Amino acid sequence: MSGVNEIRSTFLDYFAANSHEAVPSSPLVPRNDPTLLFTNAGMVPFKNVFTGAEKRPYSRAVSAQKCVRAGGKHNDLDNVGYTARHHTFFEMLGNFSFGDYFKETAIELAWKLVTREFGLPEKKLLVTVFAEDDEAADLWKRIAGLPDDRIIRIATSDNFWSMGDTGPCGPCSEIFYDHGEHIPGGPPGSPDEDGDRFIEIWNLVFMQYDQVSPGQRLLLPRPSIDTGMGLERISAVLQGTHDNYATDLMRALIEAVANATGVDPDGPQAVSHRVIADHLRASAFLVADGVLPSNEGRGYVVRRIMRRAMRHAELLGAREPLMWRLVPALVRQMGQAYPELVRAESLIVETLHLEEKRFRKTLERGLAMLDSATESLSAGDRLPGEVAFTLYDTYGFPLDLTQDALRPRGVSVDNEGFEAAMARQRELARAAWAGSGEAATETLWFSLRDRVGSTEFLGYDVDSAEGII
Ligand code: ATP
Ligand code: MG
Ligand code: MG
Ligand code: MG
Repeated sequence: MSGVNEIRSTFLDYFAANSHEAVPSSPLVPRNDPTLLFTNAGMVPFKNVFTGAEKRPYSRAVSAQKCVRAGGKHNDLDNVGYTARHHTFFEMLGNFSFGDYFKETAIELAWKLVTREFGLPEKKLLVTVFAEDDEAADLWKRIAGLPDDRIIRIATSDNFWSMGDTGPCGPCSEIFYDHGEHIPGGPPGSPDEDGDRFIEIWNLVFMQYDQVSPGQRLLLPRPSIDTGMGLERISAVLQGTHDNYATDLMRALIEAVANATGVDPDGPQAVSHRVIADHLRASAFLVADGVLPSNEGRGYVVRRIMRRAMRHAELLGAREPLMWRLVPALVRQMGQAYPELVRAESLIVETLHLEEKRFRKTLERGLAMLDSATESLSAGDRLPGEVAFTLYDTYGFPLDLTQDALRPRGVSVDNEGFEAAMARQRELARAAWAGSGEAATETLWFSLRDRVGSTEFLGYDVDSAEGII
């Protein structure tokens, strides 16, 4: 059985052997792209190459790109711990053609990799194509020999990719693996497609149009290819499990959590182990790329991720900071592929330790408040926004931490009430400020604040304008 590190290499080597330039992962903070919170797909570092604004000395590339989806357009934070296939941090394996090969070669290369190099049984595989993309459907039939009922036509945006309102766009085709009847979930396009039985492993994007204006789409003279395969998902398949968290790499982190807490990782508290293992990776990689916890923007996203994991550490009975103790296990698993983790190890340890100490000062009192405020609530009820706001403002509980804490009981949070309480607080601050005599500065400050929005919540509000695969 191959480990995650070998599977990554198999992918990179395969495309290198097929004349692709191996390009190292870019940082999680995109360069020169303030519209995007974090790199969330393998194509992000190549955006300007696809539009033609930037030239590279190669027209085929392959990469394993660090990605975070915990804010903005793609936000999988709430899924973590609850689905078998989502992480906040994951690695996206991708091959790219910049005006070089197109659909036919992309499908051939992909099919050969999954069936020959990876040796997956053909009968377990199915694909989706964009409803109007007869060309792709025909190619799958011819190249892979798939029967019609395993080439599923999807008419939604799931199978049509665009970079933004204008620019390159095109249909996509996704490869799914059927983990078998014992796992709940339906095939893509069915009402219960969100289960974990049919797992989407690879997205092939066929960039064939240029959207010049909302109503006008031209054919690109040299169409391009952008693909993305989740390393954790293909690893699960190759290691005979449907569950990303059961792969060797994630399992080693979960075991580190179990060793540090003494709690059974396969018992009723498995969700906490998963959340901690996932959030440890995201936190560590973000710190290594220079994102430190703070109260705004990217820094607030990493704080939310850290604190959510820290509450789960508390649930597992940890009475002292826990996360920092897990860092060596992560560096053992991923330090070779990502030397920045080794370089930043002591910064990661210190940052996690300090953040957890800080948060622990209010954590217990906040949890006690949450308990008493929700005593009388039952499934289907909503926690008043005011309470969630006090937890945020006084106890340092990010909103999604409160939501996560109430989720197992089926209690939701009145988000509008929370926002309203936040706005009221801002008004009060403004009123308190008035009269200080410096009218011009005040006006400037508050208008700026209104324009930019609540700094604390940039994490939710900032959206990547572009549709990344
Ligand atoms: P899903 O529908 O399962 O949420 P997606 O359609 O959002 O996935 P894409 O944007 O197509 O995913 O990304 C390409 C590939 O990256 C996916 O096919 C999957 O293998 C992987 N991937 C996407 N999101 C995640 C995640 N949160 N954790 C792990 N792997 C992911
Ligand atoms: Mg998704
Ligand atoms: Mg999808
Ligand atoms: Mg997809």
